[in-house]
Amino acid sequence: MQNFIIKLFDFFTSSDIKDFEVFEPEIIEPKEVMEKYRLANTQELFNIYGIPKENPKFLETIDLPYPMRLNWDKKILVNKMRCHRLVASDFENIFQEILNHYGYDEIKELGIDLFGGCFNFRKMRGGSDLSRHSWGIAIDLDTERNGLKTPFNKANFSKPEYNKLHEIFEKYGFLNLGKEKNFDSMHWEKGIKLWKT
Ligand SMILES: [Zn+2]
Repeated sequence: MQNFIIKLFDFFTSSDIKDFEVFEPEIIEPKEVMEKYRLANTQELFNIYGIPKENPKFLETIDLPYPMRLNWDKKILVNKMRCHRLVASDFENIFQEILNHYGYDEIKELGIDLFGGCFNFRKMRGGSDLSRHSWGIAIDLDTERNGLKTPFNKANFSKPEYNKLHEIFEKYGFLNLGKEKNFDSMHWEKGIKLWKT
């Protein structure tokens, strides 16, 4: 045993030790931090955003970086949008990033500029709960090709050219109902932050 320990000592103190390969951990590039979100329930919306009504004080009007066409009357251009003040900067960033990525011509070609509404004090379609539009934290785009009852894989927004659009909304915590629930793919709403990866 003693011999063994001496040998071990020799082993570690021998001059060969410098030839040992130094263990170098693999360098992993840090990924972009992505925050995860889930859909909010109605109570959470009351707690975070207040009580909706016809003309609530929580609204703010933002300038749009490109004009949008009213979905139900495409001749009418919209340059401003009312939304909840807590998500106003999110919407500003989202529209700016959409413009930076697609450019105005492609935005029009893809129908991303077809505005189906943001703030709207009303019940959910076919439900008794308040619509998320009542808080001004949701937006509908291109309503005709992304219908309420159309499954996501049949909706226009499921096509690959809209991947970046989804990515931009998701970056700011907005979830698409088509992706989340397989209906109402026209609709994005601000979610609740879960964790970071
Ligand atoms: Zn909607």
